[in-house]
Amino acid sequence: MPKSRKTPTFCKPIWGPPMPDAPVLQLSDLNAWYGESHILHGVDLRVNTGEVVCLLGRNGAGKTTILRSIMGLVDRREGEIAFAGRQIADARPETIARQGIGYCPEERGIFASLTVRENLMMPPVVAKGGISLDEIYALFPNLLERLSAQSGARLSGGEQQMLAIARVLRTGAKLLLLDEPTEGLAPVIVQQIARSVKRLKELGFTVLLVEQNFYFASELADRHYVIEHGKVVGEYTRETLKTRADELKLLLGV
Ligand code: ATP
Repeated sequence: MPKSRKTPTFCKPIWGPPMPDAPVLQLSDLNAWYGESHILHGVDLRVNTGEVVCLLGRNGAGKTTILRSIMGLVDRREGEIAFAGRQIADARPETIARQGIGYCPEERGIFASLTVRENLMMPPVVAKGGISLDEIYALFPNLLERLSAQSGARLSGGEQQMLAIARVLRTGAKLLLLDEPTEGLAPVIVQQIARSVKRLKELGFTVLLVEQNFYFASELADRHYVIEHGKVVGEYTRETLKTRADELKLLLGV
């Protein structure tokens, strides 16, 4: 039997203006299920406005499930998910997107038969402030070179990843959830993606990413959470990542 939802303790109902002093995202005692499988067991974490925060952890730890829970894409979730201080844990995925959260899944979801430009024109601007195509091309110059010549299927993995992030930006998202953006990419492309994420941070976007590439993550992220068996088991800042490296290696099994 599902547990009855606890009364939210720190966040307001979804509809209304953002709460000025609240973190952009706060998860409290988040539990999630796929069918009967209980995957997240009381996740607590916070992402402040303008931060890049990374979820680290071994395979199957629950990192992707955290992103999917935030977007309302799991079978069941309980607990608090506050976006700018407003509870979204009961909202549907399209409502969550309209609030300004964009999700780039690991598989990227490019429309293979459409050109780059058509892919970029696909998402309706769902939240206020979707960025213009010119701004997209300034962030990802590779996409400008490929605008009409190529179908999505013929793009390289790196170009597909850039297109996936660009498409989310077109929706007006201010908080970006990126699932393993560097997976399978050559080091030179990983550097390009890192530059783009840094630029997004300078522009005021907030990023929560799942990453297996520790060097990419340590270069980019302000803070890191380590996930194990569906729980947060460690939190590291950019500085403590260095001083507590041995402890972290043990947690990650590297
Ligand atoms: P990875 O790095 O391997 O993607 P992860 O930390 O992102 O790992 P999740 O993908 O969140 O882990 O998976 C957490 C657990 O949930 C795993 O045991 C996985 O098998 C299970 N799981 C994931 N998706 C589903 C699903 N659709 N149905 C049932 N179980 C699932």
